[in-house]
Amino acid sequence: MSNKKKKRTSSMFDFDNVKASVQEKACRTHHVRQVLNDLRNVNINDIVSNDIDLGEDEILALMTTKISIQAVNNLRKTLQHVPANITRVTETPMRSSMIYEVFKSLRSANLSMEEIETYSKILESRCPVFMSINDPITDIDFSSDKDLLVKYLTPPVSVCMRCDKRLSMRNNPSRAVLFTLRGPVRCAKVTLECRDCSTRYGVCNYTDKCGTRFYPQDFDIDLIEVSNVTYLRPDLYQWMPSLSNHCWVSFSGFAEAYNEINENQIKKYAQSLKDASVLDEDMDDSNKGILPGEMSAKVVANAFWKREAELELLSHGLRETWIFMEKKSGPYTGTTDDIMEYIDKKRSVEQYSHDCSAHCKEKALSEMSSQPHLSESSFEAINSGLDKISQVSKIGNSPNASTFQGTSDFLLQNPEFVENQEVQGDMVCNKDTGGLKTLQCWSRGIFFIVSAGGHIEYWQPLYRSESPTQAYLITVLWLYGKFKDLKDAGYSEDEIIQAMSSVVLAYDNMCHLDGLLVSKKNLPFPKPFDQAWKCIGKVIDRLHIRNHVDPKCQLQYNADDKVPSHFNTMACEQTFIWASRLKKVMCAMPHIHQFFFLHRLVKYRNAYTEKCHKQRKTPVLPKK
Ligand SMILES: [Zn+2]
Ligand SMILES: [Zn+2]
Ligand SMILES: [Zn+2]
Repeated sequence: MSNKKKKRTSSMFDFDNVKASVQEKACRTHHVRQVLNDLRNVNINDIVSNDIDLGEDEILALMTTKISIQAVNNLRKTLQHVPANITRVTETPMRSSMIYEVFKSLRSANLSMEEIETYSKILESRCPVFMSINDPITDIDFSSDKDLLVKYLTPPVSVCMRCDKRLSMRNNPSRAVLFTLRGPVRCAKVTLECRDCSTRYGVCNYTDKCGTRFYPQDFDIDLIEVSNVTYLRPDLYQWMPSLSNHCWVSFSGFAEAYNEINENQIKKYAQSLKDASVLDEDMDDSNKGILPGEMSAKVVANAFWKREAELELLSHGLRETWIFMEKKSGPYTGTTDDIMEYIDKKRSVEQYSHDCSAHCKEKALSEMSSQPHLSESSFEAINSGLDKISQVSKIGNSPNASTFQGTSDFLLQNPEFVENQEVQGDMVCNKDTGGLKTLQCWSRGIFFIVSAGGHIEYWQPLYRSESPTQAYLITVLWLYGKFKDLKDAGYSEDEIIQAMSSVVLAYDNMCHLDGLLVSKKNLPFPKPFDQAWKCIGKVIDRLHIRNHVDPKCQLQYNADDKVPSHFNTMACEQTFIWASRLKKVMCAMPHIHQFFFLHRLVKYRNAYTEKCHKQRKTPVLPKK
C-alpha cells in the first residue's frame, strides 16, 4: 500500500504532469463555458414561436442558464400568485403589470417587462410539470404600500360554468382583507362575469338571475367569505368552534385575542393603507373603534354563522342546492338566517346519534342504551324575544314555543296533554321549596337529555310554564323518537318493550314528573310505544336524592336499586355544566342564533366525546 502511494505522489509532483493537468482543466472549463454561452445566446423567442423542438426539461435547462435557477423558480411562484383569469387590458394587460411588480419584488433578476412576458409565456405553455409544483410565495412583503403587491382573491373559474364562454372582468380589482393565522393580509379581489348569460362569479360563490350559490365542493376553496370585503382562512377559523367547545370563548373574546397576538402585523397592515381609501366595512357604525386590519366581534360572528350554516347544508346534502337570496322563495332558498331556521326545525324533531364504542358502553348501564340523564332546567339563556313567542296561542299558525320544541304536531293531536298539569293528590314531596327554588325554575331554560357516556342526545328550549308538563312532554317525545325506528327495523313488540325497559332515566325532579296525572295514562303513541314511560326505569340521582323529603322518593326512585353502584352520573352532570357555561356566550344573540349556536356546539362536543371514547380517554369536562 505505502509503496503505491509514494509512487503516485511522486508522479503528481512531476512538473510536466502538473502543467498538463492544469491546462487540461482550463481547457475543459473553457469548453463548458463555451457551451453555456452558446446556450445563453439562444434566442428565447425561437421557443415561443416553436422554431426549436425541445422538451420541458430542455427548455428549463435553457431558461436556467439564461436567467438563473432562482429567477425561474420565482417566476413560477409569481405566475401562480397572480391569477390567470385576470383578463382586463387597460394600456397594458393588467396581469402583465401585476406579474412584473411581484417578480421585481422578489429581487432575483433584472428582467424587462417584455422578457418577463416571454419567459412567462414559455413556462405557462410549455412547462406543465414544473408549473404544477405547489410551493407558494412566502417571502413576498404583502404589507408594502405598493398597490400591486397584494394577495389576489379570484374566482376558481375562468370560463362560464353554464355556457363555457371565457369570462371577462367588468371592474378593476377591489380591496379586501384576508385574516390569516399570521395576521391580516391586504387583498385585491377579482370578480368575473359571463357576457352571454350574465352570471357573475365571485370568490366563494356565483350569482345568476335566481340567486347566489356555493361553488361545488370539489373546487376546494380555501376561504370563508364573511362579507364582500372580508375573508377568513379556514385554518384560522377552526380555532373558533374548538375554543368555544373547550373554553367557552365568545366572538368578541376571540377577536380581541387575535388582535393582541397579531398586533405588529395589524400595524403594518394599517400603514400599508396610508393613502388608500377605507373599506366599506371599516365605516360601519358597529365597528367604531376597530382599526384597519383589526378583527371585530362582528366578523367572527358572521364567519361562524356562514361557515357553520355551510357545514350544516353540507351534512344535509344541500350545500350546492341552497340559493341565497334576500327574500325567501321556495324551500331551499333565503339568507343564512333562513338556513339556521331550517336547520333548527330539523333539529327539533331529531336526536343526536353517536357511534357508540366499547369505552362509551362501559359508562352506560346496559348494552341496549346508555343511561340518559335529564338536565336541571336552570339554563336561562333564552332572551326576552322568546317571551313574546311563548305568549302567542299554542295552536295557531304563528310560531310559538312548540314550533321550536318540535312538539307542534303532537300538541295539535293531543291538546289534553298540556291541559292536565295536575299531580297526584298524595304527592307530598316538597323538594320545590326553599333554597332549591332556583334550581327548579322551569321557565325559560334549555332542557338536555344526556347519555351516560356524556353524549347530548336531545335538547329543547323550555318556555314559560310553571309545571313539569313541558319536561314530561319533551321526555316522552324523546323516548318515542329514540325507539320508533325499531319497528321499521323489524323488531317485535316484545323486543321493543325490552329495549325500552333497559333505559334508566335519572332526573333530580323525577317525583314531580312521574307524579303528573297525565303520566299515569298510556302515551298517545302507537303500540307498544304507548307503554314507553311505564317501561323505563326512573331514578333520582344520588347527588340530589337527599334533598327529597318524601320517604317515598327514597324508596321509589332510589338509584341504588336500579343502577350498579360503580356507575355515576358525573359525566351527565358535567355535560350540563359544560352547556350552562355557554349561556354567557349565547345571551346576547337573537334566539334563532342561540339555538343554532347551541346545536353546532353540541355537535362539536358530541364529536369530541365520541373520539375520546374511541381512544379510551375520558373527555375533559368542567368540574363545576
Ligand atoms: Zn354564461
Ligand atoms: Zn355511547
Ligand atoms: Zn321527591
